[in-house]
Amino acid sequence: STPLAIIRASGEAAERGILMRSGEAFHVFRSVRTIVFDKTGTLTEGKPQLVACLSPLAATDRLLHLAASAETLSEHPLARAIVAEAHARGLTLETPTEFAAWPGRGVAATVAGHRLLVGTERFLAEENVNLAPLASLVEQVHARGQTAVLVAVDGRAAGVLALADRAKPDARATVERLRRLGMKPVLLTGDNWHAARAVAAAAGIDEVLAEVLPGDKAAEIRRLQAQGQRVAMVGDGINDAPALMQADVGIAIGAGTDVTLEAADVVLVSERLETLVEARELARRSYQLTV
Ligand code: ADP
Ligand code: MG
Repeated sequence: STPLAIIRASGEAAERGILMRSGEAFHVFRSVRTIVFDKTGTLTEGKPQLVACLSPLAATDRLLHLAASAETLSEHPLARAIVAEAHARGLTLETPTEFAAWPGRGVAATVAGHRLLVGTERFLAEENVNLAPLASLVEQVHARGQTAVLVAVDGRAAGVLALADRAKPDARATVERLRRLGMKPVLLTGDNWHAARAVAAAAGIDEVLAEVLPGDKAAEIRRLQAQGQRVAMVGDGINDAPALMQADVGIAIGAGTDVTLEAADVVLVSERLETLVEARELARRSYQLTV
């Protein structure tokens, strides 16, 4: 039977927007020593802005028109930011005649008869695009800690879109409080190393795992567990579901999708990271009451 103290604690938790799928999650959370954070929408606000369109050849409005048209069918936050900026500039977008989303990589689409690739360096390189003409532009974007989204048109490198996302205002304080509670913070993301390090620095996190494909995130959690520590994973995206399930405690933050909610042991209703500290505190008290 479930100890009374846990039932009481979970009632209090629910009032604070902390939903526990089991009393067990409380027990496990108090012994977690490593806490892994997803980046986009977890440590950051998850509302990236397109801050620059850079191209060595074409007019940047043409570049944005093609790239944003290719992204109209993607639900990724980066895609939404690119489409929003195109609309803000008064561009009328076209619907791709062909479209494929590559999770953790980008999108491939046909727009007005042109073959578009929009995504990571790795993705375009895998598709045999020569990225040399974009190297210095990508470096500029990375130096600012932003995400470089590369664009190829008909197999040729055409430009770079720079996207910026801010760390949540309570990221740094929350990380510091969790550290004082004996938890080591780790950042895990599919984004590039430069953008990942910039967000980690803003949040006060030293350990960073970047450029991890969605399918490999659970393996990274397993690797941390193999070091003998109980691991919690905090995330918000569909991509994170396998990692949330692999973790000893999977924590979904914000308005998570249904998939994520089912994968999670703990659901934090609001986007405030500070709720993590409250959840940990409740877990500690439930323990004290039951021993
Ligand atoms: P995260 O770990 O931040 O959730 P994802 O795994 O969703 O990141 O994506 C990793 C990277 O793949 C993104 O930073 C971006 O560079 C690229 N990417 C993914 N989807 C898209 C898209 N629709 N358009 C452009 N780039 C994308
Ligand atoms: Mg994600």
